[in-house]
Amino acid sequence: MTSPPHGDHGHAPPQRTVEQHLEEILEVVSPLSELDLSLLDAHGCVLAEDVTSSHPLPPFDNSAMDGYAVRRADVAGASEESPTMLPVVGDVAAGSATPYTVQPGLCVRIMTGAPLPPGADAVVPVEWTDGGIATVAIRRTPREGAHIRRAGEDVTAGQQVLPAGTHLGAAQVALLAAVGRARVLARPRPRVVILSTGSELVEPGTPLGHGQIVDSNSYGLTCAAREAGAIAFRVGITTDDPREFRDTLEDQLIRADCIITSGGVSAGAYDVVKEVLSQLGTVGFHRVAMQPGMPQGFGTVGPEATPFFGLPGNPVSALISFEVFVRPALRRMLGTEPIQRPTVRAKLESPIRKGAGRRQFARGRLRVKDGAYVVAPFEGPGSHLLADYAAANTLVVVPEETTELPAGAAVDCLMLERRQR
Ligand code: AMP
Ligand code: MG
Repeated sequence: MTSPPHGDHGHAPPQRTVEQHLEEILEVVSPLSELDLSLLDAHGCVLAEDVTSSHPLPPFDNSAMDGYAVRRADVAGASEESPTMLPVVGDVAAGSATPYTVQPGLCVRIMTGAPLPPGADAVVPVEWTDGGIATVAIRRTPREGAHIRRAGEDVTAGQQVLPAGTHLGAAQVALLAAVGRARVLARPRPRVVILSTGSELVEPGTPLGHGQIVDSNSYGLTCAAREAGAIAFRVGITTDDPREFRDTLEDQLIRADCIITSGGVSAGAYDVVKEVLSQLGTVGFHRVAMQPGMPQGFGTVGPEATPFFGLPGNPVSALISFEVFVRPALRRMLGTEPIQRPTVRAKLESPIRKGAGRRQFARGRLRVKDGAYVVAPFEGPGSHLLADYAAANTLVVVPEETTELPAGAAVDCLMLERRQR
């Protein structure tokens, strides 16, 4: 493939729909191969096997309270006025191998989590007693089975506890440990490399020279990739020098399951991503019928056909392109469902106008009013309006051919939850 000469505006490629572009992406990306991972490495990954428990949970009958293991019949008459006195034959703590049996007329002092001694059928909490060590005064009668956690009441031996496809958060990892798994088969989190292109870019905190702007995209995209479940490597800024960009890209390929760049994909001169990638890999550059985010590059690069996203440089375009195209791809790589953000129908609180031909992702605030969703769209579609985007919690999807929506019209709203999952 030959590249257009540096600075050639070329002729505009044909336009494609959001669906067509996303379809191509989802045909290329697939779930990463499963790995045998230790539990903490599996955190945030998606389980690739059905997990069953080798033993019951709890593994044995045990006490839910600090107190006294008794035969309920022995304390049936206990009251505040006339406590039942029982000799205490010994102590069982959590972890102790129980040498005791509760014989009629006797009791055993027991701690939370300790195995229930044979013979006992209830635990009297210490608060209902005088806390005696040799003899105890019991002031109330427990129910049959009171304060006993039965073996298997959480999980029975052989029970499936987590199916393949489960996202492994804190609770799921705890359960895997509890059922005795030190390692599991899981799909690893995709490793994503993020690069910003632009000779005008500087690091945050650097005084701005003439024409310089801060590289906000690599920060936003790194966080967006993390929020989608990936391991993100922020490489940062490369200039619009093609050689520098190509070298950086080739260096980074080794650790990437996916590469995201921003900038340099439109039809201007010095569009470095377009220039370099046109000669490397299978990346195509398209005009996608959306606003913001019309210029999009996508394809694969390198010996392992690593998915590559060349996102536009405007900060809001870059982040919305991520939402629409990259997030679903990363979720597909993780092997998790759903790959899309949730969408709800909401009523517009004010009208929207736009040109025909492109799907608009308008920024807005979604909230519940009188039990139904309403959305206040922000004015202005400018793809540089980052402060607006930071205040938005939704993208209002305005269809391609719609030019006007009155207040009260029902619209689809993509919910941008910013919590990590
Ligand atoms: P480009 O697509 O490279 O022509 O960039 C489009 C616009 O986005 C220009 O105004 C750039 O200065 C701006 N831009 C590009 N990259 C970044 C970035 N990493 N952070 C913030 N703004 C950027
Ligand atoms: Mg640029």
